[in-house]
Amino acid sequence: MSESRDFCPRCGDPVPERPEPLPGMPRERDDVLCDSCYFEDFDLVDAPDEVQVRVCAQCGAIHRGNRWVDVGARDYTDIAIEEVSNSLGVHLNAEEVRWGVEPEQVDENNIRMHCHFSGVVRGTPLEESVVVPVSIARETCQRCGRIAGGYFASLVQVRADDRTPTTDEAEAAIEIAESYIAEREEKGDRDAFISSIKRTPNGPNIKISTNKMGSGVAKQIRERFGGTIEEHPTLVTEDGDGNEVYRVTFVARLPRFTAGDIIDPEDGDGPVLVRSNRGRLKGTRLTSGDPYESEFEEGERPEAEDLGSVEDAAETTVVTVEDEHAVQVLDPETYEAKTIPRPDYFDPDAPTVPVLKSQSGLHILPEEVVESEDEE
Ligand SMILES: [Zn+2]
Ligand SMILES: [Zn+2]
Repeated sequence: MSESRDFCPRCGDPVPERPEPLPGMPRERDDVLCDSCYFEDFDLVDAPDEVQVRVCAQCGAIHRGNRWVDVGARDYTDIAIEEVSNSLGVHLNAEEVRWGVEPEQVDENNIRMHCHFSGVVRGTPLEESVVVPVSIARETCQRCGRIAGGYFASLVQVRADDRTPTTDEAEAAIEIAESYIAEREEKGDRDAFISSIKRTPNGPNIKISTNKMGSGVAKQIRERFGGTIEEHPTLVTEDGDGNEVYRVTFVARLPRFTAGDIIDPEDGDGPVLVRSNRGRLKGTRLTSGDPYESEFEEGERPEAEDLGSVEDAAETTVVTVEDEHAVQVLDPETYEAKTIPRPDYFDPDAPTVPVLKSQSGLHILPEEVVESEDEE
């Protein structure tokens, strides 16, 4: 039995024998002090002198560690309570610890946090209260600063082959970009944002935060509409480590012909209603109802005359069914009776039919004119 266990090493008073520490655990120097020396400089609570909470005044993110984190839309007092609570420590030797934190709002940006602790140390109940002043610093996080500054790393241009995108195509492409980015934002990716959307006469220009997401958006647009993607990188700067930083323009070029277009491949068999543009162009002949498919070498872009689309169709009256190859209808513009080809989808009992009048003449369209592309 050593001397130090029987007498307090600081004041020399005798102390009751203390239990041996657990095997492998060293006896702390303080553990051998008598109670009065031990409590002389004992702090139940370890609290910071003050806490500063940096919040983004735009989006409500808070700065924690060395980065901004989204905490959702909550009030700053709740955030202050949480930050202070995380910064408080209780002495390891304390048992039966209870604690509470009570905010006292001083002004809009200052809160006095009253923290109460109780616990039992060496069989002695202790209580301690500390007041931690909290200041709220309203700043602009990097993300909000970048959005406000128009920062972008990639530009997605929605264009079309030998034509301009329709309003429907343009709006659908914008919606694809918005939901792609929104999905990443929801997963907590603070690098995901759209800094601007411009609807130009040639098609939408969408500025996106990263090259990777710009590429992802362009691919989703191609997935929806078909067509091609061109990439044009531009060196904009070098980063701190001397790496080259590129801004990439992705041109999502929609195909020349899309489902619902009516074209004339000029092969002598008459106009075609386009049904699909994946790989090769597929459709239905308006003269016979036979299927049409472009040659392999032509892909989705055969040489063809654009005659219009199903949206240009007009409903007209069937005058008489002449035979299995011909039917007489009224010209929707001149109201003259005209004999035109009878495709196999024509219903001989129908009093009216949708027709398209174009430079190739008058043609009957199928009733269910366009299939949804999603059913491909
Ligand atoms: Zn002592
Ligand atoms: Zn922000």
